[in-house]
Amino acid sequence: MKGLTRRRRNSAGLGRTRPLCAFVVGLTVVLFPATSATQQHSEHASFHALAFYTDKGEQDHIDFALQSLRFYGDLAKKSNFSLDSTTNWNDMNTAKLENIQLVIWLNDFPHTPEQRKVFEDYMTRGGAWLGFHVAAYNDESTHWPWFVDFLGGAVFFGNNWPPLTATLVVDDHAHVLTHNLPATFTAPANEWYIWKPSPRLSKNVKVLLTLDPENYPIGLKDTITGGDCPVVWTNTRFHMLYMNMGHGDRIFASATQNKLFEDAILWLGARSKVRSK
Ligand code: ZN
Repeated sequence: MKGLTRRRRNSAGLGRTRPLCAFVVGLTVVLFPATSATQQHSEHASFHALAFYTDKGEQDHIDFALQSLRFYGDLAKKSNFSLDSTTNWNDMNTAKLENIQLVIWLNDFPHTPEQRKVFEDYMTRGGAWLGFHVAAYNDESTHWPWFVDFLGGAVFFGNNWPPLTATLVVDDHAHVLTHNLPATFTAPANEWYIWKPSPRLSKNVKVLLTLDPENYPIGLKDTITGGDCPVVWTNTRFHMLYMNMGHGDRIFASATQNKLFEDAILWLGARSKVRSK
């Protein structure tokens, strides 16, 4: 961890502005229309997933969310689950989650006590969660200790900038999600987060992928120069998986990583204990 260039994000982690935003938004909508990802609930779906995201703020996070909806929308048709999406975080309520087996946060996270309480209750009852990138962001301004515990104690500490490709190392090939992955692979350009404490310090956490130390130093403006950097992990006390990928429009450029994304949602959907009535 020593030598890490630490860059605190603003509380929402969403403050960076970009030129050409309007153009990028327009292009993204054409290429990845959000509506295509939304399926009606099917009586025959093996599980129902609800993806929360925010369409305001950092454009790279919005791009990822919209691409994810397209990616998982296509998978839902092939793999017989339903996927709905919402930008209204007040949909994190008991009635809305009643028949939802899997909650996905593509970017952002609940901000009100009511939304957070519903999520805590949902996960405690055996619901499943898949979170990407800034979904797990937390700092001293977040004021949600339950969520830090849920992540296995991980607190955001720093990140590289600009987004860069990185070699990832599989920690344990015995896990069903890593079983078919190569020992290492190159992940597409991402803004990688490092955590302090590292979630690996929790006895309940199973780390599946880690940033290869060979990547260090990684970054130009902001650099991660060393330290343990888990990228994908699960807290085994819950049906949850966190994946740090999720910044920009290159995330789905790796077939190897895409297979992991697919397997992750199917694994979680099958494990959820919150069943439809
Ligand atoms: Zn980011």
